[in-house]
Amino acid sequence: MSHDAQPDASLYIAGRFAEGEGEALPVHYPYDATVIATLRAATPKQVAQATAAAAAAQPAWAALRPVERGRVLIRAAQMIRDRAEELARLETLDTGKPIQETRVADWPSGAEALEYFGGLAPTVTGQAIPLGGDFVYTIREALGVCAGIGAWNYPSQIACWKAAPALAMGNAMVFKPSEETPLGALKLAEILTEAGLPPGIFNVVQGGGAVGAALVTDPRVAKVSLTGSVATGQKVYAAAAEGMRHVTMELGGKSPLIVFDDASLEDAVGAAVLANFYSSGQVCSNGTRVFVQEGILPAFLERLAKRLAAVRIGDPLDEATQHGPIISPAQLCKVRAAIERGRAEGARLVCGGPGEGAFVPPTVFAGVTDDMWIAREEIFGPVMSVLGFATEAEAVARANATPYGLAAGVFTRDLARGHRVAAALQAGTTWINAYNLTPVEAPFGGVKLSGVGRENSAAAIEHYSQLKSVYVGMGGVDAPY
Ligand code: NDP
Repeated sequence: MSHDAQPDASLYIAGRFAEGEGEALPVHYPYDATVIATLRAATPKQVAQATAAAAAAQPAWAALRPVERGRVLIRAAQMIRDRAEELARLETLDTGKPIQETRVADWPSGAEALEYFGGLAPTVTGQAIPLGGDFVYTIREALGVCAGIGAWNYPSQIACWKAAPALAMGNAMVFKPSEETPLGALKLAEILTEAGLPPGIFNVVQGGGAVGAALVTDPRVAKVSLTGSVATGQKVYAAAAEGMRHVTMELGGKSPLIVFDDASLEDAVGAAVLANFYSSGQVCSNGTRVFVQEGILPAFLERLAKRLAAVRIGDPLDEATQHGPIISPAQLCKVRAAIERGRAEGARLVCGGPGEGAFVPPTVFAGVTDDMWIAREEIFGPVMSVLGFATEAEAVARANATPYGLAAGVFTRDLARGHRVAAALQAGTTWINAYNLTPVEAPFGGVKLSGVGRENSAAAIEHYSQLKSVYVGMGGVDAPY
């Protein structure tokens, strides 16, 4: 079957495809580096056209009844489900993630976000604050034009997670996908238009960091939502501050997963596998520091190695494939360098290694200590560090000894300990006897360097709106002079 995924054009502005006038952006299928499409970046003028289209269209969209806005999003969610197989295939070509993942995780999660926020839109109301005669009422109003900037690991899900709450609240959005994975956001734009979204409410521009930077500093942009690395987040946050723009920063981590000796070993091993190797380890919330209580450490490692030996690595379009390639040659270099560093630092390679071609197999290091580079830095590849621990207090202290705080997990059959440890862990999301489940109903986001703001859940509404207070005077005005 052909791998041609060329879209009608590279950008989507004011309800229509438009060709980019900037540099050429070849898009590769990460499995075999075939060029599946060639796009062109947006020029600064085209970024300005997109934000102008968004600014022009936004007031009428915000003036609709929320239930009408919601209906468009819910219709788009249904269209995504109707086209599930075509979209999963496109996501696999764009990212190299196994089709068995993209069928269940990426677009399906995006559709849920559209459905959830479409349903939530009409429920958002203000407050009435009585003042004994006079009163105040509050209106939760749209911010205006929001910029969305995405990473390459979950391109379509990220576009939906940002667009759904933004649009539900009456904002317009200009979205810039990662230049590695530009195709899903264009599909979303097409689907939203077909679902009845007015032109200009969801626009897509393409390009690298410079296009993102132009978008963030555009005077029409009131809010910036970024998913990416901490280093980029710091730059984007600083640039947004100049215009006092609102921000949501969904950044990286080095999340801990703590396994106590009373845990179900099989479940804990399964969670550690999902927490490190799903999407070839390219997941921001991954539990890459696995702390295992000393008594069960040998059994844990043995079971882990056995289960990983059975993993099927191959063409992501093959339904049997469980583990796909790394997104790009640049990321491959980074992951391989990290594995080399782990070896050089004296960690023991339990399984995996640098791999061949575009693949890095699931890689586990044991005997890792807290000061090793591989235990401190986000690798963003399939590399797990296993660390032993003795006591609960020690595990919690070591788990928290990181500048990051996106996620954390604890495995134990002791109910009280599960809740105690979850409360003590410095992370935006903490799982007890589970890992990496991010339902749209639950807030998701980081503390410390891992980010600002929350995506998903009703909490996201606050990050895509602002409160207006209206004071109503019911009597005369009593002026002193
Ligand atoms: P980046 O954080 O560099 O990029 C994220 C998005 O921001 C991309 O769309 C990127 O554009 C854009 N961008 C880059 N610089 C700027 C800027 N100055 N202003 C506005 N937008 C900008 O992630 P990468 O994809 O380059 O990956 C680098 C590393 O980040 C990975 O090795 C990994 O460790 C980490 N990462 C973490 C993610 C997470 O969710 N925690 C997700 C992805 C990566 P473009 O990429 O097109 O140049």
